[in-house]
Amino acid sequence: MAEASHTPPVVGRFAPSPTGRMHAGNVFAALCAWLVAKSQGGEVVLRVEDLDRERSKPGFVDAVQRDFERLGLTWDRGPYFQHDRDEAYQAALDQLDARGLLYPCYCTRADLHAASAPHRGEKPVYPGTCRGLSPVERAARRDAGRTPATRLRVPDETVAFHDLVQGDYAQDLARECGDFLVRRSDGAFAYQLAVVVDDAAQGVTSVVRGVDLLCSTPQQIHLQRLLGLPEPSYAHVPLVVAEAGRRLSKRDRDAALDELIARFGTPEAVVGHLAGITGLAPTCEPASPEQLLAGFDPAALSAAFADPIQVLWR
Ligand code: GLU
Repeated sequence: MAEASHTPPVVGRFAPSPTGRMHAGNVFAALCAWLVAKSQGGEVVLRVEDLDRERSKPGFVDAVQRDFERLGLTWDRGPYFQHDRDEAYQAALDQLDARGLLYPCYCTRADLHAASAPHRGEKPVYPGTCRGLSPVERAARRDAGRTPATRLRVPDETVAFHDLVQGDYAQDLARECGDFLVRRSDGAFAYQLAVVVDDAAQGVTSVVRGVDLLCSTPQQIHLQRLLGLPEPSYAHVPLVVAEAGRRLSKRDRDAALDELIARFGTPEAVVGHLAGITGLAPTCEPASPEQLLAGFDPAALSAAFADPIQVLWR
């Protein structure tokens, strides 16, 4: 008997780092993720990205969930927490290690800073300092008391993909990225590894996030291929910037959610304003995410933005 054709359900995600309250930029990226998933009958997963134990605060974990709820940005599964996932991350590292792809890196932050020139303003390229260390050289560094980080050896290969907003994007891993960290010297698993392992485990098929993470995506796709994990679709949406080239940060208090609600009066007014200034909606009229859904077409997402890189906050 022929199998019925089966399109896998769309699963989007919110992946906040609980290091502060949400601001207009985070809200905008989450709104886009929600609209892309829901407009295709999909669901949304909430994953709290608390890998950085120093900077993640329990108070913000609660606050970020309340912020989503208040805005009508609902999730169907989760919250999942990265702090629960060490075993899964370690299993992925073990797989990579078994293939001889990992090596210890003893470089300090200062070494890295001195050795690498940022490429096209995107990210520093690791020059490979510790890639070819001999066992004797490694032992000497260990004996000197240095705790290593762990890097993944990348091939001289280009990773290309199609982004729903930014179009075609390609990165030569060796030249534009270099061997990258999969575990930090303090023992924390690196973001690139955790995000890939989690997206796969949580069935995420649609990644919608700020364009600041566009240049991380080839690393993530490379890891997915090495680990035999499915490749989600990607949409990198513009950043909301305080002024050209300076993105909003958690320090811009006027863009923090409480301030926004105080300024605009209601959560719907905040959502409607963001949708209007970014081009997601034709006007800045108050609207809930549910109301925006009616006029939303994911195929038209890239055409919605006058500038795919930044939107000036106002
Ligand atoms: N946790 C990251 C952030 O809050 C997002 C990571 C991702 O979307 O892949 O910036």
